Amino acid sequence: MSDAPALPSSVDVVVIGSGCAGLCAALVAAADGLDVIVLEKSDLLGGTSAMSGAGTWLPANSKAREAGIADSEAEALTYLESASPEGWAAQERERWRAFVKNADAVLAFLERVTPLRFELVDEPDPFAEAPGGKRIGRMVSPRALGRRVAQPFADRIRPSTMPHFFTYREAHEYDFFQHPVRSTIAIAPRLLRRFLRGEVGQGSALIAGLLAGCLQHNVVIAHSARARRLSLTDRRVAGVEFEIAGAARSLVARRGVVLATGGFEWNASMMQRYFPGLRYRLGSPATNCGEGHAMAEAVGAQLSRMNQANFYPALPTLYEGQVHALPAPFQVAPAAILVNRFGRRFASEYEFNIGEKVVLIDRDTATPANAPVWLIGDWKLKRNAVLMRQAKCDSSFMREAATIADLARQIELPAETLATTVAQFNRFARGGHDAEFRRGQTIWERYISRAARNNESCLQPIEGPPFVALDFRMGLLGTKGGLLTNANGRVLDHEGCVIEGFYCAGNAMANPIGTRAVGPGTSIGPNLTWGYICGRSLVTSKAREMVQRA
Ligand SMILES: Cc1cc2nc3c(=O)[nH]c(=O)nc-3n(C[C@H](O)[C@H](O)[C@H](O)COP(=O)(O)OP(=O)(O)OC[C@H]3O[C@@H](n4cnc5c(N)ncnc54)[C@H](O)[C@@H]3O)c2cc1C
Repeated sequence: MSDAPALPSSVDVVVIGSGCAGLCAALVAAADGLDVIVLEKSDLLGGTSAMSGAGTWLPANSKAREAGIADSEAEALTYLESASPEGWAAQERERWRAFVKNADAVLAFLERVTPLRFELVDEPDPFAEAPGGKRIGRMVSPRALGRRVAQPFADRIRPSTMPHFFTYREAHEYDFFQHPVRSTIAIAPRLLRRFLRGEVGQGSALIAGLLAGCLQHNVVIAHSARARRLSLTDRRVAGVEFEIAGAARSLVARRGVVLATGGFEWNASMMQRYFPGLRYRLGSPATNCGEGHAMAEAVGAQLSRMNQANFYPALPTLYEGQVHALPAPFQVAPAAILVNRFGRRFASEYEFNIGEKVVLIDRDTATPANAPVWLIGDWKLKRNAVLMRQAKCDSSFMREAATIADLARQIELPAETLATTVAQFNRFARGGHDAEFRRGQTIWERYISRAARNNESCLQPIEGPPFVALDFRMGLLGTKGGLLTNANGRVLDHEGCVIEGFYCAGNAMANPIGTRAVGPGTSIGPNLTWGYICGRSLVTSKAREMVQRA
């Protein structure tokens, strides 16, 4: 006999995946009176979203307005156009418009129907100088929130690799990476109060708040429930087959199915197909393995943007028994440079989208243009206690040597080229100007550099010894390719026609913002918004049907 829990066999909406995209879609539909169930494969809830910093990029939002910061949908669109890769505007403009139009509404909605409260974060757009770019105003994040609001699921919120007793805003205001003890002491009374109240920040707060809203609106949350197949009736997605507690079950979805299963980064054969030869560390939960993509393909959905992903600098860490990615811009250090497989610098180390260049493939030779990439520094890097602690999680992460020549031999780079690169950087450092890549000159690079913020130089010579090389393989926080949707979140087939009853949001969709991030929170912000758009589409389809019946 199976001990599978009692669940309904028919609902209005089935949402697959309990990350921010899925929970937001579920909440919107339920808040409008629809009958909703969320199926989550893992026994933990919240997916990558729960692990995240919950930095949320939402342009033209009310928090900025209240702070007197001018922004508009038109400026946000201009920015998306100027900051995105060539050719994207022609294909993505309609989806960008839908995202920008709904971004502020998501914030208002979440604050209305959940205990979540957002605050502005002092982070600029990475291309703040580009047309439509902003120095501040588009980044928000949840304030700390008591986990218990998500009862009975408070202890099922997926833990993070990052310390979530801080909020995202605090993580940016204080320098926990360079000065963990000093920074923690600075907010110790606040942290103590938070600890006593059981409050958490970042992705843990985001998921606690979304779950609380879902529970208040009677959404059924089924964990350990793995969706296996979508059922089609008259070319319409009409339900889901899934398994729970070892039992096969099926669910009828009267109005529709929202696929929000995250990325496919844990699927080795899909990764080999779409990111051949890439070296990376994974940051998301191992349950994100492309099952949603496969289910969608089986009902004729068109997949697109499959070679796009969220790449972020990451240190090694241990999570669920294996080496994982701990996102941290550890390359932002005054006496350190990134060198490519030829031993040369290839970009400003402080660029927000450095990952795009690290994973770049040379079109002519179809080989990596830069990877493998190493961060080269000296004894000053070794003073960083957090860096040294994390280095212990992966014995191949750090090499050190008494001379640059010896270091070059260890990491198999041409010794002469590496010595010339370091010598040239040291000349720039002594002269106070990076003539090659103008490090520290943009609004973003001044912001990210603690040294520049304190009016100190972000260029210091690498003089060792010991000289240090750190393996700068990117953290892959989630793939961003998947089901092609229209501006209402409805899934399209190979002819570009809507598949009735089928919606997709989050990393499982073909994201209109891909590898090149136009803001630090351009996964969570858009994913919440696409969840919201799917939920609204489901609700309006209900309204349309009622009008037709009348
Ligand atoms: C440490 C870390 C920090 C990050 N910080 C930020 C940040 O500050 N800002 C930002 O914008 N982005 C950040 N990201 C990226 C961001 O978290 C993700 O892009 C985003 O959360 C993905 O949301 P999602 O809802 O699409 O998917 P997820 O949150 O990954 O949820 C997908 C869920 O679907 C479930 N699932 C998969 N298959 C099935 C199935 N067959 N049946 C049922 N369920 C299934 C999975 O188990 C998972 O729980 C971070 C990522 C990491 C790892």
